Amino acid sequence: MTRGFPEAARETLQNSQLRRNLGKATTTIRAKRLQAIGELPDWEALREAGAAIKARAMATLPEQLERLEASVTGAGGVVHWARDGAEANAVVASIARAHGAREVIKVKSIATDEIGLNEALEREGIHAIETDLAELILQLSHDTTTHILVPAIHRNRMEIKALFERTITSRTLSSDATAIAEAARVHLRQRFLSVPVAVSGANFGVAETGTVAVVESEGNGRMCTTLPEVLITVMGIEKVLPEWRDLEVFLQLLPRSSTAERMNPYTSLWTGVRPGDGPQQFHLVLLDGGRTDVLADELGRQALHCIRCSACLNVCPVYSRVGGQAYESVYPGPIGAVLSPQLFGLDAHPTLPWASSLCGACYDACPVKIEIPSLLVHLRGRVVREQKSRLSPEALAMRAVAGMFGSQERYERAQKLARLGRGPIARAALPGWSAMRELPDPPAQTFREWWRERARVS
Ligand code: SF4
Repeated sequence: MTRGFPEAARETLQNSQLRRNLGKATTTIRAKRLQAIGELPDWEALREAGAAIKARAMATLPEQLERLEASVTGAGGVVHWARDGAEANAVVASIARAHGAREVIKVKSIATDEIGLNEALEREGIHAIETDLAELILQLSHDTTTHILVPAIHRNRMEIKALFERTITSRTLSSDATAIAEAARVHLRQRFLSVPVAVSGANFGVAETGTVAVVESEGNGRMCTTLPEVLITVMGIEKVLPEWRDLEVFLQLLPRSSTAERMNPYTSLWTGVRPGDGPQQFHLVLLDGGRTDVLADELGRQALHCIRCSACLNVCPVYSRVGGQAYESVYPGPIGAVLSPQLFGLDAHPTLPWASSLCGACYDACPVKIEIPSLLVHLRGRVVREQKSRLSPEALAMRAVAGMFGSQERYERAQKLARLGRGPIARAALPGWSAMRELPDPPAQTFREWWRERARVS
């Protein structure tokens, strides 16, 4: 159970350093992204194509997943189906154990954060080493992610320098970014060369060919997907693309929307295994984890089209002030506000659909045109409808108001009562509503009373 967005946001808003770091980073990324997409005259057509491909993939998901399984198996890989995080974690742990691995190296993957893979492996005596720089920073500082793409966006350079000096190097580092990155490189290099099992996520899995794609900026992903003997990829089932040519669209949309680059510095694509070249075992774990339930909601399923570019976070006026931790999920920001309640249950995140001003900036920025504002309104409706039976103070108050409006006699009696209490009674009847608003005092005489009195006089 989470504390809820209002309470968590109140806490993060106290952190002025976090707000400064976030404000600076999101402003810079926003400006660069606008420049990058402005270079493409067919940007809107690309967005349309991305939305259409995702809609097709979701409409034919069972068929695409079976095609993917057949293609991966045909290329020498092994496919595992996981209904939930526990099953996926168990598969990864058993493969690692079978290879005698006490450590695995990891490429940044939100799916594995979602299922708590690192903690599950730790319980089995297997240590997961994050190799993405930002993920390494979070792991070393026992911190949680605040951004989909830049998980340590809330940390500044001096904080990271101090952290590395405490944890991975005995040297005093200069404040130069290259020297700080070098400390991480030296720390990780030996692990890349010695750890036999790697775990990755997937940006895309192509049903037609069985190819899995990971895009990244540091080269750590390339190391993980090529050097170890065994590669395990945990992929949410919504990441499947029907055809190879679909990559053409997404490999243009994703880098420009995420890091504002024309193409990703590293795009790793692999198809099964090849003797003498790269990992000699490839396991693909297909994770459901509530996704088929999301698919059952005709409106809500759009959230599964997300390609995790983070453009919606960077333009969101709410996210850029409260930061990712206020969303209490591995999926922060506008996409988190619509994905987390659906994936993890409305009960777990009942306040997230209200974590938005509905300004629409997220929709304008989204490369696959997910209508996040409409989804937020839809989910607000679901929370109210599905939590009606909980007898919350608000639901009870609304039920009483409905009873009152249902009968003239009750309505007039309530008016008299409200006048007697002049405010306090009405405020007590509408606790949530009146906490944030000035409730006007009822008039001394209602229109009906005035009309009856007028009729008597004349
Ligand atoms: S919802 Fe759209 S803009 Fe936000 S992360 Fe997903 S793809 Fe990117």
